[in-house]
Amino acid sequence: MSVTTQGKAPGRGVSRTLRPTTKQLPEHARRHNRSLVLQTLFHSGPSSRADLARETHLTRVTVSDLVGDLLGEGLLHELGQRPGTRVGKPATLVGLNPDAFHIVCLDLSDEACLIGAVLDLSGRVLLRRKLKMQGRTGEVAVAGITSLCQELVGLATRPVLGVGIGSPGVVDPDGVILQAPNLGWTDLPLAAKLAAELGLPVHVANDANTAALGEHTYGGAGGSGLMVIAVGKGVGAGLLLDGALLGGHHYAAGEIGHVIVDERGEPCACGRRGCLETVVSAPALRAAIKGLDPRQADAALAAAGRRLGTALAPVVSALDLREIVLSGPADLLGGALRDAAIATIRKRTMPVVGNDVDLRMAALGEDVVLSGAAVLVLSGQLGVS
Ligand SMILES: [Zn+2]
Repeated sequence: MSVTTQGKAPGRGVSRTLRPTTKQLPEHARRHNRSLVLQTLFHSGPSSRADLARETHLTRVTVSDLVGDLLGEGLLHELGQRPGTRVGKPATLVGLNPDAFHIVCLDLSDEACLIGAVLDLSGRVLLRRKLKMQGRTGEVAVAGITSLCQELVGLATRPVLGVGIGSPGVVDPDGVILQAPNLGWTDLPLAAKLAAELGLPVHVANDANTAALGEHTYGGAGGSGLMVIAVGKGVGAGLLLDGALLGGHHYAAGEIGHVIVDERGEPCACGRRGCLETVVSAPALRAAIKGLDPRQADAALAAAGRRLGTALAPVVSALDLREIVLSGPADLLGGALRDAAIATIRKRTMPVVGNDVDLRMAALGEDVVLSGAAVLVLSGQLGVS
């Protein structure tokens, strides 16, 4: 929502790439090229200036100029000469300096506690702090978030590049929480509020979208047709299509939890019956297998997986997805549920789409939202993702 994987200006969905409305100014081009160099080093690792020119299609002069600036800022460091024997002058390697800045990240998706961490630029978690929510909502919850951010900024031993936050609910590209019922927030300008308190850039996005960015940047997921389904107390999803996070008309793309899958099903928190959330949320799955022996439990999880697959098949087809990633409790999601869901998707879609779809557990485990929150900052501040 608030970012694309290229770190372009915020807008709605992927359509903004089709119809540019502003002219490219020289300072934009410089910023773009700077991001291109950083992005290349972020993904390819240490490179020579000649490698960078080749990879980015920028001139050697432009690359040398940009690298000089980035070395001066401490974002890059010189890594000596390339090992091995080569004819001519050995090339000096430069690489992204992971310790140039720290990033403060918060995951608000856990009902019971706020999870915060300090990460380096490579996405490594350096330290963690938790704050019990104890039912806090509204302004009281904001105060808790502010104090956790202040504590983490104080613990960072390098300058802080920014603060990234993955929050439940519908979040607009400016980091305004339009709606987060569980936290009692409506039209809350969380990013602006925290930025004013902390004096730092703050980037806020929906937690499932944040998880999708994390899996894409640090978990090896592709960006051409990725859906990350976050299963916790509720069920949400983030979508990366053609290299950009899909926002949708109401910034609510991926909100699949309240699609009805069983009209005679259980009552849902939204006031209706039989939403997907009443079948595959973590509490619903725990309740479904309570007291069952392992074989019966697997059968119950498989039944839930078939419901999930039925709900996903039209989405997979309409968007031509390649990868679906489940983020949540592996004991509930990783076995019979996953197997039944993918089998159902394949059965209900055209072979050209369904045969190739992969459904797996998140590579980043429980850190997926924290890692994605770091990507919000990297992308927003440096154009790297
Ligand atoms: Zn519902």
